[in-house]
Amino acid sequence: MNRTLLITGASRGIGAATARAAAARGWDVAINYTHAADAAQAVAAEVRALGRRALVLQADVADEAQVLALFAALDREWGPLAGLVNNAGVVDVAARLDEMSAARIQRMFAINVFGTLWCAREAVRRMSTRHGGAGGAIVNLSSVAARLGAPGQYLDYAAAKGAIDTFTLGLAREVATEGVRVNAVRPGIIETEIHASGGQPGRAQQMAPSVPMQRAGTADEVAAAIVWLLSDEASYTTGTTIDVSGGR
Ligand code: NAP
Repeated sequence: MNRTLLITGASRGIGAATARAAAARGWDVAINYTHAADAAQAVAAEVRALGRRALVLQADVADEAQVLALFAALDREWGPLAGLVNNAGVVDVAARLDEMSAARIQRMFAINVFGTLWCAREAVRRMSTRHGGAGGAIVNLSSVAARLGAPGQYLDYAAAKGAIDTFTLGLAREVATEGVRVNAVRPGIIETEIHASGGQPGRAQQMAPSVPMQRAGTADEVAAAIVWLLSDEASYTTGTTIDVSGGR
């Protein structure tokens, strides 16, 4: 049975945790990254230590040509994939809309939205029975920001994640009879390096009191939801979004 999975942005954080969790459940994992080659190789070593195959593939998901090359490399190495996790995503420093440059907003949508659509399109072209594929599962990373709006923080990011929610629903319904399930996970405040990349390294701990469970979540807790959505246990689940947010 084909158990090949591509995770975008898997060199650290939620993507890396998903690679480990998926390998433990029998998936071979292709690990995509942009800059952190050593970290991506370390995740691959962990996947192999769990007895599964690993492939490390550099590509900026915001660049359509690089996404096409990424999927072509996967075709060459492993053949058609059975799972895709659209995890690569970025935030930016806290700002109001009236302080944001066009370049910032374009980057936010290029990586978080266009990257997801391009990767999902290439996956559907390979998984869908309409294209001769054997089916598969796609999981998109949204955020609770999609329903909170993130005012004064990064509403460009929140709007991009709102697009992911709508895209997940639409694509799920579009390919529902073609063997492809499409779902999303909406993490809340999760302890990863994404907060430091937005200039707020202590954000997860600072925000903890605002979470009903009074703590940040872990990447492993998000990964658990993702691998369930990928699994056959979720065989009747499509077009849905699971909040992993401690009640927030
Ligand atoms: P993270 O720790 O910052 O990791 C991001 C990963 O994405 C890295 O592996 C990075 O690789 C990769 N990446 C960044 N830009 C990329 C691009 N253009 N093409 C390919 N890969 C790229 O982030 P995280 O916290 O694990 O977040 C993962 C996902 O969950 C994101 O979609 C994020 O929006 C979402 N999320 C996170 C939280 C949270 O609190 N952590 C909450 C809600 C939603 P390189 O370092 O090699 O560039």
